[in-house]
Amino acid sequence: MSSDCTFCKISQHELPADIVYEDDDLIAFNDIGPQAPTHVLIIPKIHVPSVNELTEDNCDLVSKLVLRAKAIAAERGLAEPGYRLVMNCNAEGGQTVFHIHLHLLGGRQLKGMG
Ligand code: AMP
Ligand code: ZN
Repeated sequence: MSSDCTFCKISQHELPADIVYEDDDLIAFNDIGPQAPTHVLIIPKIHVPSVNELTEDNCDLVSKLVLRAKAIAAERGLAEPGYRLVMNCNAEGGQTVFHIHLHLLGGRQLKGMG
């Protein structure tokens, strides 16, 4: 837990969010500024700032994020039409919240990466 981290506060229920899934390891909630009909953020409850801080010891959490994204996508009928998973890293990667998170985007035709 990082005391000044918005996503830690959401995972601890200290800040409100539109939560769509939660278990002991992770929490998923709707993005506050959705870029697609489905735009869910899946985050670990532990504070890892970015992909740069992943190690052999904590990288299992990434599999959990991806599998949860897959499940949420399937529940919403997105498995067959498709969806996008994005993880931004640091400033040039477009990361604005420094608590690692996976974006799940779907429900419309997504354009190429820019
Ligand atoms: P990134 O740019 O990859 O760091 O993504 C951060 C995402 O978090 C953006 O898409 C924001 O719209 C979203 N976001 C920031 N604050 C909140 C919040 N309090 N609740 C939900 N989504 C948020
Ligand atoms: Zn955090």
